[in-house]
Amino acid sequence: MKLQLVALSLFLVGSCSTLRHTEKIEKLKQSIIFEDQDKIQTYLNTITRIELEEHVYNFSSDEFQGRKTGEPGHHKASKFLKDYYINQGIPSPLGSKYYQHIPKAYFSDDINDSQNVIAYIEGSAYPNEVVIISGHSDHEGYTETEIYNGADDNGSGTAAIMEIAQAFKTAAVDGNAPKRSVVFLHFTGEEIGLNGSRYYSKHPVFSMTNTVANLNIDMIGRVDEAHQGNENYIYLIGSDRLSSELHYISEEANAIFTKLDLDYRLNSENDPNQYYYRSDHYNFAQKGVPVIFYFNGEHEDYHQPTDTAEKLNYPLLEKRTKLIFATAWYLANSETRIEVDKADL
Ligand SMILES: [Zn+2]
Repeated sequence: MKLQLVALSLFLVGSCSTLRHTEKIEKLKQSIIFEDQDKIQTYLNTITRIELEEHVYNFSSDEFQGRKTGEPGHHKASKFLKDYYINQGIPSPLGSKYYQHIPKAYFSDDINDSQNVIAYIEGSAYPNEVVIISGHSDHEGYTETEIYNGADDNGSGTAAIMEIAQAFKTAAVDGNAPKRSVVFLHFTGEEIGLNGSRYYSKHPVFSMTNTVANLNIDMIGRVDEAHQGNENYIYLIGSDRLSSELHYISEEANAIFTKLDLDYRLNSENDPNQYYYRSDHYNFAQKGVPVIFYFNGEHEDYHQPTDTAEKLNYPLLEKRTKLIFATAWYLANSETRIEVDKADL
């Protein structure tokens, strides 16, 4: 009898707090309103499969020799990105150099000096608060017989950042600059151990406490085995780990603008792959910055010389890029910055 009473009161306590939690989440969801939908749509329309395809083909071409960190091919790829931002009229917070130099001594073994590439659009109201959109620019290099072009890994993410930057720039030229600064950050040294992002997190250009969120992109141009015949998807990892608000903003952006199937199976804390800890966003999460990692999953060409540009699904790459832009737009323009309500570090 007594035992049963204890069990009953535990049940009541449990259901009350669940109710409070449900109410809180409902309130939070209702507070997320995309006000400028027509405006956002105008700039979403500047993100096109044709331009994405052009960027992927260029960035994964043989000219860049598989973009191995510290090698001439990767330096050339960094210069390609810098020149793109200069041509688009998008400045760097580092002035004319655009490069965050990383000395050879920072890397292990036989890796040479390298660089992250950084560009940004200054916020009109809260320029010191930043939303960082990132992806790695390096890949596996080449052998005597083969080049690792890395079209999906990470030509796809790089192309997405280039298009998102152009969309924010077009908006700024129209007088619709974001309220917060939006930073475009291309990391080096990811394939050899998340080096570029770790270096950035130790030498941040904008303080980590002023970094509102990091949207990190690594491989978003292909379809994995699990989604053959059901391709309208993207895996999201990390979106709810530090900020419930970030998670629901992302869901709302998708519900309004892109209607992808948001697949969270790789976000499960029990997922054996543990991707949350395996790409550059984790160096932000560790510092308490909420992140979303956008990913298409692994496929047969993953880390093979056969990861080439003609195998990407460009309409899908366009849709996924638009989801990231719409999410970033909200994060950069909301009246108050998103709240960190979880401390799952
Ligand atoms: Zn990658």
